[in-house]
Amino acid sequence: MAISRQVATFRLPPLPTIGEIIKLFKLRAEKQLSQNFLLDLRLTDKIVRSAGNLKGAYVCEVGPGPGGITRSILNAGVAELLLVEKDPRFIPGLQMLSDAAPGKVRIVHGDILTYKLGQAFPDHLMKNWEDDPPDIHIIGNLPFSVSTPLIIKWLEKISNRDGPFRYGRTQMSLTFQKEVGERLTASTGTRQRSRLSIMSQYLCTVNKCFTIPGRAFVPKPEVDVTVVHFTPLVQPKIEQPFKLVEKVVRSVFQFRRKYCHQGVRILFPEAERLEKAEKMLMLADVDPTLRPTHLNMFHFKSLCDVYRKMCDEDPHLFLYNYRDELREKRNKKKGNFKRTKDDTLI
Ligand code: SAM
Repeated sequence: MAISRQVATFRLPPLPTIGEIIKLFKLRAEKQLSQNFLLDLRLTDKIVRSAGNLKGAYVCEVGPGPGGITRSILNAGVAELLLVEKDPRFIPGLQMLSDAAPGKVRIVHGDILTYKLGQAFPDHLMKNWEDDPPDIHIIGNLPFSVSTPLIIKWLEKISNRDGPFRYGRTQMSLTFQKEVGERLTASTGTRQRSRLSIMSQYLCTVNKCFTIPGRAFVPKPEVDVTVVHFTPLVQPKIEQPFKLVEKVVRSVFQFRRKYCHQGVRILFPEAERLEKAEKMLMLADVDPTLRPTHLNMFHFKSLCDVYRKMCDEDPHLFLYNYRDELREKRNKKKGNFKRTKDDTLI
């Protein structure tokens, strides 16, 4: 009881502002590293509120930089905060925050793309997948060049229930370029519907929380930023291996303005392309003249299930890669051209 009251009332002591920390430690934003800082504590509080109730929670913040969001997380009364920051220039400023919240903050100087979050939290926090999410949250405003590959990587980990999802259905609140946020959350039939929409929504409930105008950041990026919240689903909407779903979805969206049968065809080697694509669409009960953006989750589930059966019948099929075939063809053409040239020379 005493502990929960202590958690509920925790506030950071008076500290230099984020602007002053930036000056104090000479933390000029590196443009090449796409660093844009959030200095407005009302906005950082809003990001943290979008993660839900963090009282007594274990949180990992990715890319804390000068620590604006970090302060809001600490003020939310978390039990523990793990910070993973790649740029060593930010570590002393983060250390100052850590000193202001004794025993709560762990700082890791590392790259979140390689850091192993699967061992980062105490084992007693583990929940069964079917239970409510564990009291573990991932929050971050990362460069867009990192957040998109990272979410794909984490979606695969959700599918395999490893990494940070070893603890159960760990929730995430992450920022994306506004257009990417729209793709992640797009529904069937919209212009933004894309590979990312299917990959994220078959595994998670994905909510677009709010958009922050670029002018709120220092320095101002060219684009606006959207906060997206992910909660892994108890039951994925497609129950096939991640790589298989990824292959089907990527192929279908390869020709996003054409009929979907064009994309389905490239799942098969040239010699059997037409016949097998027709069979797959027929068995999946998908109209070949629907555009990829008009396929709903049930269509994708059906396509993946049928493709899985076809791969089980022909074990070489899954290894077939349209891009490799194209590359080989192109190389052959180049090779032929060279030979003719050499022949002429000889
Ligand atoms: N979160 C801070 C804020 O909102 O003011 C900083 C945002 S800045 C856009 C991105 C931060 O992520 C920088 O501090 C940068 O050094 C860090 N970062 C970039 N790539 C990273 C990676 N792979 N792993 C960990 N941190 C990374």
